[in-house]
Amino acid sequence: MPYGSKFKALHDSLTHLSRPSYKKTRIGEKCYLVGSIHKSNVSVKEQVAIELVVGKVNSLYKFQRLIVDDHLIHCREYKHVTKRNNYTVQYRSGHNKDISYGHVNCYVRCHLACPIPLLCSANCVCKEPCYIAMISKLHTSSQMLRDYNKSLGISMEHLFPVSKQESSSEAVMVQHLLQLCVYVDVGHAPSFIGLFPNCYEKD
Ligand SMILES: [Zn+2]
Repeated sequence: MPYGSKFKALHDSLTHLSRPSYKKTRIGEKCYLVGSIHKSNVSVKEQVAIELVVGKVNSLYKFQRLIVDDHLIHCREYKHVTKRNNYTVQYRSGHNKDISYGHVNCYVRCHLACPIPLLCSANCVCKEPCYIAMISKLHTSSQMLRDYNKSLGISMEHLFPVSKQESSSEAVMVQHLLQLCVYVDVGHAPSFIGLFPNCYEKD
């Protein structure tokens, strides 16, 4: 694509190559926190969900954007883009690390409480913050999939139906986010999740 062309600009805006130089902080392998963070509170329910995953939390900060594998993922609390849903993700969930799908409500940086202050050292869990995505899971079922494939007559693995109904927010370590998805709301149940073809092979 020629540089300076409209198509090039569109392509870059879609693939995030032409982003303005926003502030980003590396927080893991191919993972960056984008923008600023603010000291914040979460609901009691959310705090419980977070502490089930990371342990007792001392302080919480919120942020609204994350880069995973070169994809910028927003959250519902990010209000600067309203037209495009940019917060639906594929991630690993629960003890079995099942592949799941959901909407990111917000991102949280947690500083953990020191478990034994008398024995605190440079390697103590209280020294390194944890990064969490609060996600409302979208449900899919093999029955929904069978009905859908039957209606199409073929199996479409990169586009599949999910129920509009969401579960309450679950806490997911950002390392368990796999990829940004396309969420297609067709106005009546179910909605659809689409996977970007270039990410499709990802395990
Ligand atoms: Zn400590």
